[in-house]
Amino acid sequence: MSTSQMGQETEKPMPFPKTIDELVKAGYKHDGDAQCKGCGASIEWWVTPRNKKIPMDFGTANPHWMTCPNANDFRDRKVAS
Ligand SMILES: [Zn+2]
Repeated sequence: MSTSQMGQETEKPMPFPKTIDELVKAGYKHDGDAQCKGCGASIEWWVTPRNKKIPMDFGTANPHWMTCPNANDFRDRKVAS
């Protein structure tokens, strides 16, 4: 039996940035401040490299829908079922 092992490090796709610094480096752009309509929290709009807007918790690189108690407001836009 022979065991062949890849000595290569696999390149992982970059996970979602965790800091503002990483966001900027990854090509995200700050697009202004706002207030969440669902819960009233302060949020920041960021535009992803794919030109998609995402709301972040203010001052963080944490997508607001992860913490928003009314996150369904964000998700239910696409599909009407
Ligand atoms: Zn909210």
